Amino acid sequence: MEEQLRTVANILKGSRIVVALTGAGISAESGIPTFRGKDGLWKKYRAEDLATPFAFQRNPKLVWEWYVWRMNIISKAKPNPAHVVLAEMEKEGILKAVITQNVDGLHFKAGSKNVIELHGNIWRIRCVDCNWKTVLNSPPIKIPPICERCGGLMRPDVVWFYESLPQDALNKAFKLAAQSDLMLVIGTSGVVQPAASLPLITKNHGGILVEINVADTPLTLVCHYSLRGKAGEILPRIYKYLKRKNNGNI
Ligand code: NAD
Ligand code: ZN
Repeated sequence: MEEQLRTVANILKGSRIVVALTGAGISAESGIPTFRGKDGLWKKYRAEDLATPFAFQRNPKLVWEWYVWRMNIISKAKPNPAHVVLAEMEKEGILKAVITQNVDGLHFKAGSKNVIELHGNIWRIRCVDCNWKTVLNSPPIKIPPICERCGGLMRPDVVWFYESLPQDALNKAFKLAAQSDLMLVIGTSGVVQPAASLPLITKNHGGILVEINVADTPLTLVCHYSLRGKAGEILPRIYKYLKRKNNGNI
């Protein structure tokens, strides 16, 4: 493992454009449950059955209860060493951007600036009728919240299953993926499209893929390097080698 970390650090040093693609796993060590895996259930519901436009239509209050539960967790969460290392790498000009599927805003909290939020942000809400948007700083008291402009229902401005991604964010992400000579694929199960196809774009353009995940994923087979372990532990170890002038090769 140590040898692999050192090799990855060396490749990182020699890369021109590096991006990170992050998923729920990078925030797991901050205490935010992922969708898949043992913590993926809320009450008796699966995230896949709540994060849909149909669920909201059928029972907006239930969906909002789930979001209030998640907002409460997220408001207490702090960036972990994985978020911090990515922010440091950006500051030092090593990392160009973070493309994230997360809605928790922890990359910004850690100090990252160039963050592309593919699935929106949990604190932004919008009216289903007139599209008026506003940003919350704590979970709403009364649910579902009502639009101040037209009295319509407000919903979280996040991308649900069966919905398309914000075009602007998606365009930027595809462009970055094509340009990158290295993509760090961190804590994503690699099954949610179109985010899961971004690493393939990088690879098809000749870029290197480095996966950091506690478990195998469908992307493991296409990644050049797969580092098994927690993002909050692996990234600081890579960073340590990055900072060494001779990379420990004396
Ligand atoms: P996912 O829940 O499908 O998968 C999480 C992945 O992270 C798994 O592959 C798991 O093995 C890995 N993982 C768990 N702990 C890890 C750790 N400490 N270090 C490294 N890897 C770890 O998540 P996904 O692929 O992001 O897709 C699910 C969707 O859920 C996304 O669209 C996202 O918007 C949403 N989501 C977001 C948050 C958040 O904002 N924090 C939380 C849950 C779900
Ligand atoms: Zn409205």
